[in-house]
Amino acid sequence: MSHQSTVGATPPSLRGAELLRAPRFNKGTAFDSKERAELRLRGLLPHRVFTLEEQAARVMRNLEHKPDPLERYLYLAELADRNETVFYRALVDHVAELLPIVYTPTVGEACKRFAHIYTRPRGMYLTLDDRGRIAAVLRNWNESGVRVIVVTDGGRILGLGDLGANGIGIPIGKLALYTALGGVAPHLCLPIVLDVGTDNRELLDDPLYIGVRRPRARGAEYSDFVDEFVAAANEVFPGLLIQFEDFATENAFGLLARHRDRVCCFNDDIQGTAAVVLAGLEASARITGRALADQRLLFLGAGAAGVGIATLIVSAMVQAGLSEDQARARCWFVDSKGLVCAARTDLAPHKRAFAHEHAPIADLVGAVRALQPTALLGLSAQAGAFDEASVRAMAEFNERPLVFALSNPTSKAECTAEQAYRWTCGRAVFASGSPWAPVEFDGRTHVPGQGNNAYIFPGVGLGLVASRARRVTDEVFLVAARRLAQLVPQASLDHGSLYPPLEAVRAVSFEIGCAVAELVWKRGLAEEPEPADVRAFVRAQFYEPQYVPYLAP
Ligand code: NAD
Repeated sequence: MSHQSTVGATPPSLRGAELLRAPRFNKGTAFDSKERAELRLRGLLPHRVFTLEEQAARVMRNLEHKPDPLERYLYLAELADRNETVFYRALVDHVAELLPIVYTPTVGEACKRFAHIYTRPRGMYLTLDDRGRIAAVLRNWNESGVRVIVVTDGGRILGLGDLGANGIGIPIGKLALYTALGGVAPHLCLPIVLDVGTDNRELLDDPLYIGVRRPRARGAEYSDFVDEFVAAANEVFPGLLIQFEDFATENAFGLLARHRDRVCCFNDDIQGTAAVVLAGLEASARITGRALADQRLLFLGAGAAGVGIATLIVSAMVQAGLSEDQARARCWFVDSKGLVCAARTDLAPHKRAFAHEHAPIADLVGAVRALQPTALLGLSAQAGAFDEASVRAMAEFNERPLVFALSNPTSKAECTAEQAYRWTCGRAVFASGSPWAPVEFDGRTHVPGQGNNAYIFPGVGLGLVASRARRVTDEVFLVAARRLAQLVPQASLDHGSLYPPLEAVRAVSFEIGCAVAELVWKRGLAEEPEPADVRAFVRAQFYEPQYVPYLAP
């Protein structure tokens, strides 16, 4: 896709070495001889003038020589701090290769070690000491026109648990994808960590830990702080979208419920995940012939992701004609204590809507045999939790069992792609959270589809930002999921993959952005006046990494 937008690229007043140190404006070796002469750059760069494409090729060449993914992550982070345009050019042109580095799974490794690899802030760090003056602190950010904040409290990073202030790596990575995939210009994006302490002993004992050394704030101390942050962010950056990210489940649902009717916000772990999985289920109908409303789903793991998915699936089933009770009755959960059922007295509030009447069952294979689901979905962060007996049982009563091992990172996946195909004699329709290489089985190549949230949130964000949405409704995610499912090419389905190739995700995000923006206008939730041509309007805002001339020709 080639959009010619140069949004956000205004000629700087910077000169000389200062210009080379400003990542948004720096062109490095691509400054031409006239710019070098007039912008006081002569002598500060080697002689040869390169194109952006040549610079990006050099980046890819350098990456090849890095010994491991974390080194590649560090190299790209350093590049983003030096020359934003080359960073995004490389990311846009090599999505499939670089996504696993900039985001999951490598970002998980980077977060674990963030205190040790720290070089530059790359976002904002708010602590309880900022209470009462969060708005003033936010004004310290060097851009005044921020439109998207991705914020975490580091409470539950991917499947890795409490990583405290190290969790900032996630908002940084997600916002890089907002720009590279969703076309939201980099200067509109702000990564934030709410550093409320950590209960991670290893971090607290680490002399290099970058965060506040205290146990996590809880109760009113915590929620008052988050409330002040949400209000302050909306005051300082009008027309803002806040994406809540990797909050522990006990906070995630409450925060979303508290803020979703007041400001423009969503939680990607709950709603974005839900949409990407719903899209996979809808696309699977083109392989299995079974419509969503005819599925019976068994989830392993009843946390933010699992319950978020089931909640959106219920909405989609209701749209397809089922009653809410009928739809709920099609979604079952097993958590660490067995089947989530009505008789249990130990259930957290978010699980109760899915606690159906049934005798207790202790383990997954027992639940699979008793409930005979059409789809098994893993969101438990328990490596190997889909054992051979459970997956084989799925294949006993389903011609094409759906097996989604969605936990991240790769080391936490409920089963491998190869196991899913082998245990079902190649009949499983498999999807995962982290990437798996294609699997050869019985002379056929199976391509595991990655139910990556990156298919959804950049497009949703684009649509919300373009329309200046006042609120984010569940319908936004239904529309996004449906659009994504429609965009899965037949060639992907032919290899068993339920998602488009990652190379297509930028074009897919643009389409989702248009669909979301259209919905926001249709529902009267937009601050922006409705344009005559929504696609042209969204396209005009879609960031394309390219250099703009700084001097009149
Ligand atoms: P969470 O901590 O809220 O939930 C985890 C759930 O798993 C809890 O209900 C817990 O009780 C349950 N659990 C723990 N041990 C179990 C066991 N032995 N058997 C059954 N259940 C068990 O976390 P979350 O936000 O729901 O995320 C869960 C996983 O899903 C993570 O690994 C995360 O990376 C992954 N995830 C994947 C995607 C994606 O692929 N697109 C998106 C979001 C989250």
